[in-house]
Amino acid sequence: MRPEYIVVHTAAFNGNNCDRDMIDRWHKDRNWSGIGYHFVILNDKHRSKSDGTVELGRASNKAGAHALGLNSRSLGVCCIGHGDINDFTPAQYESLYQLVKQLMSEFSIPVNKVIGHRELNLLADNEVISSRYRTSKSCPGHKVDMDFIREQLSSVAINTEVESSEVSAESRLAMTNAIAVLQQHRAQFPNAQDELDEFIHHPEIIAITQ
Ligand SMILES: [Zn+2]
Repeated sequence: MRPEYIVVHTAAFNGNNCDRDMIDRWHKDRNWSGIGYHFVILNDKHRSKSDGTVELGRASNKAGAHALGLNSRSLGVCCIGHGDINDFTPAQYESLYQLVKQLMSEFSIPVNKVIGHRELNLLADNEVISSRYRTSKSCPGHKVDMDFIREQLSSVAINTEVESSEVSAESRLAMTNAIAVLQQHRAQFPNAQDELDEFIHHPEIIAITQ
């Protein structure tokens, strides 16, 4: 996976000692392969770990399970605590800015693609994702101001030039034909049509087929 977005979340849990391992257990209980976030940032309610500690979740080259509709294109960062009740702690913000700046540079992600989970709805409005992926969640929480977060990150200089990939005329044609075959048979997979449209309209696929 090459991430294009960074999605900020709250754990939406106001209890003590919440960390990567606790979330891993929650997500395994949902029959997921394990923690759906790529990074977790602890708060001041942990008995033995410091406020602002960053813990690793899912490997950043693997698709997460944190933002339906955008999982194959994004990294998920979860701040412990409940963002509807309390804002992130200053130490969490410090770690969040440091981590996100690093990820923005590493993956050439511009600041406007650092979003809160609830802002998936803006992507649906702009038809970046299917409207079926709208969320009713307030995540990362009413107390968390994503515009303010983006302001703090806006100084990061990003090289947004897409690496030009060498795609032969032959494989361009093969891809165009493969999509035509899928389109012809789309009636056979009624429940996968949104995903097909999302795939076909992905910038990487458009770059190959046009
Ligand atoms: Zn979320």
